[in-house]
Amino acid sequence: MATGGIKFCPKCGGIMRPMRINGKLYMVCTRCGYKEEVKDAGVVTVYSRSVKIKHSPREKTVVIDESEVPRTASLLKGVVRCPKCGSDEVYVWMVQTRAADEPPTRFYKCARCGYTWREYA
Ligand SMILES: [Zn+2]
Ligand SMILES: [Zn+2]
Repeated sequence: MATGGIKFCPKCGGIMRPMRINGKLYMVCTRCGYKEEVKDAGVVTVYSRSVKIKHSPREKTVVIDESEVPRTASLLKGVVRCPKCGSDEVYVWMVQTRAADEPPTRFYKCARCGYTWREYA
């Protein structure tokens, strides 16, 4: 794993340090000066999909009467909180409730108290 760990020079085995040269990031050997360009894939962290709905608490929520959780629903833990009981185990699923050219509505149902609500994507 090269995520944040120490990188060693392939030539002399010296410790390599990150250095910005002409706008590009390189790992440069502190012993022999050997440098290697850092590729984006190695430094960019892949975010989990939970990041996408991180902003959800600010969005408008509307209470709905659907009580059935479809089989396509997935159980989220620690991502969304039930506005009623505060549980962080919540089922989520998507429904195309409006015109086909509009984004689908995201539905939530608390796994603890059964409170159901929705959020426009
Ligand atoms: Zn070296
Ligand atoms: Zn709840």
